[in-house]
Amino acid sequence: MTVHLFDTYTRSVRPFEPIKPPQVGIYACGPTVYDYAHIGNLRTYIFEDILRRVLELNGYKVRHVVNITDVGHLVSDADSGEDKMERGAQRAGLSAWDIAQLYTQAFQKDLHRLNILEPQVWCRATDHIDEQIDFIRQLEDDNYTYCTDDGVYFDTARLDSYGHLARLDIDGLQGGLRVDMGGKRRVTDFALWKFSPLDRQREMEWESPWGTGFPGWHIECSAMSAKYLGTLFDIHCGGEDHISVHHTNEIAQTEARHGTRLANFWMHGYFLQVESSKMSKSSGEFLRLQTLVEKGYDPLAYRYFCLGAKYRTHLNFTEANLARTAKKFDQLRTIVYDWGTPGQADAEYVERFTEYVNTDLNIPRALGLTWDLVKSDLAAATKKATLLHFDRVFGLGLAQWEPAEEIAVEVPQQILDLVAQRTQARAQKRFDEADSLRDQIDAAGYELVDTPEGTQARAK
Ligand code: AMP
Ligand code: ZN
Repeated sequence: MTVHLFDTYTRSVRPFEPIKPPQVGIYACGPTVYDYAHIGNLRTYIFEDILRRVLELNGYKVRHVVNITDVGHLVSDADSGEDKMERGAQRAGLSAWDIAQLYTQAFQKDLHRLNILEPQVWCRATDHIDEQIDFIRQLEDDNYTYCTDDGVYFDTARLDSYGHLARLDIDGLQGGLRVDMGGKRRVTDFALWKFSPLDRQREMEWESPWGTGFPGWHIECSAMSAKYLGTLFDIHCGGEDHISVHHTNEIAQTEARHGTRLANFWMHGYFLQVESSKMSKSSGEFLRLQTLVEKGYDPLAYRYFCLGAKYRTHLNFTEANLARTAKKFDQLRTIVYDWGTPGQADAEYVERFTEYVNTDLNIPRALGLTWDLVKSDLAAATKKATLLHFDRVFGLGLAQWEPAEEIAVEVPQQILDLVAQRTQARAQKRFDEADSLRDQIDAAGYELVDTPEGTQARAK
């Protein structure tokens, strides 16, 4: 069964056909590394991971490219205000280069903890300044740019198709204008290159044909995706907030230079919300994966939580919901563990599963099928093989999971003393004494277990 995916560009679910089968190129807009990622950002990367896994399940060879935005993303999407990196560096009391490294590593660790498959290519904006300058120069040669006091801008009036992705009402935007346009000609025009301020030196700045400065945010994605995937590739992803500005502008640049709309499919993950408003790095409601870990949640319980909602719906986060989901997830993996050795997967369940996930990634439905499978009267070995097949898409690590060793918790002090005496007796090769201590521990209703922390006792 063909994979069907929702394409924001055409606003329709379309059958997916790779441009060069069996290869599939995916470009996902990565994090702006001025702060830690929050669990909302991570929801988007989980969605992209599921997309990749579904394509791989269908036999495609995916090349997954993720960029790291470490320069040029300004506080306001209207190309004004500080660079988020400079602001983040000031807040942390570190250099912009140091925070880029710190938050990139923290982000990659989060992805790893969520079982998100490693992209084949990570690319940093600051490693591709020449490609970006080259891109802008070509746009300039074809008269798509103009200069103002503070930078080089893209002239959106030159493209009839500008704003199609977001169905922008440009006259409406222009009419309702409240913001200072600076030297911009049209409200939708955007910066390709910004000049460094005259009164101070930026930490991150480069020479260019137009003056010392730094690239705008959008040009990095047009330049790097072309380098790693070509000028028309299969799928471009990001969060829903990218539709109206960032992706609209990426398309404009690439259309102007290469005559393509960059990607065949445009896919967007909807937001994780807290109390029905979006979770964002600049708001107070900022929850990190690490915070959940410190509260005792397994990161994969958060992944399971995200699987419960379609990627094209908002998902409301509450800790009570997460706690409920975590319990259910624990139940599931205990059941799967107890099924023992896998046998042959059940063809009918596999077929239904494929149908659900291939229908625009209907993961909630596939999860529902999982619980039907659990309740079915198929043999344990069949259920296990079937569910491990499902887990190629879910990515919940079900094959590897084992129940945690129960370590002695409330063992009385008296018994703990006997354990310590026995350990000492054994170390000093007084084995008879050690055996007699073991008998005493045994008679009191406790048994000895070997743990990485040494021998401990637990109630029998
Ligand atoms: P940023 O680091 O802000 O550039 O965002 C990284 C990714 O997270 C982008 O694809 C955003 O669209 C996405 N994103 C931002 N906020 C949320 C949210 N609350 N829920 C889901 N995705 C989000
Ligand atoms: Zn991007």
